[in-house]
Amino acid sequence: MAAPILEARDLHKAFASGDRQLAVLRGASLRVATGESVSIRGESGAGKSTLLNLLAGLDAPDSGTVHWQGLAARLRPGVSGGARTRALASLRGIIFQSFYLIPEIDALANVRLAGAICGLPRKEAAARARELLARVGLSERTRHLPAQLSGGERQRVAIARALVAAPPLILADEPTGNLDEHTGDAVVELLLNLCRERQTGLVLVTHNPAHAAKCARQLTLHDGLLA
Ligand code: ADP
Ligand code: MG
Repeated sequence: MAAPILEARDLHKAFASGDRQLAVLRGASLRVATGESVSIRGESGAGKSTLLNLLAGLDAPDSGTVHWQGLAARLRPGVSGGARTRALASLRGIIFQSFYLIPEIDALANVRLAGAICGLPRKEAAARARELLARVGLSERTRHLPAQLSGGERQRVAIARALVAAPPLILADEPTGNLDEHTGDAVVELLLNLCRERQTGLVLVTHNPAHAAKCARQLTLHDGLLA
């Protein structure tokens, strides 16, 4: 296998549920190679979002490790504290079911800001944001606020945002969950193409078997384990 860009080992995570503990992850492990696409399916409540949050560093496992190859080396020297956390987060491109765009600023600013947070110079962040919005077919929509865009357009802004800092890997949590079937198919196709062109890895959480089948490797999360 090519060098892993992400290696997660033996992840355990439980949540308090009333007076009991609900063990969601019970030793899940995952390796993703450079440029590899991996799909993760699993029943609702299986722990897919919990797993992605751990991979993204948005939450900490009870035990186990998540290792990203070479990410910290891409930060500008001297970046520390909250700025470091934000920069690292935008180097792990993340796409959510409900988009999570900033409602008060336009599409271009949403994408540009993500680039600026990880230390791209202003002009470069703006140029890359324009280029990516064009690539996802939104050249005519750059000055629109999220509320003025359709669901599919919002998700395409989120894809551009996830890619702006050229992350080695994108984590996408049911990115088509809020889209109609036709729009969802187009969004997944676009995401896979962009990742392929850029040798960007992709972890795609999805309920849709046809979308899962487009990934190079298909996994299922069941009983807290990935197989
Ligand atoms: P999936 O994404 O596969 O549908 P989740 O990872 O969202 O599943 O949730 C897995 C289980 O963990 C569910 O039973 C959910 O209720 C529980 N859970 C997730 N996050 C929390 C939390 N922050 N606090 C308590 N329980 C949680
Ligand atoms: Mg989920």
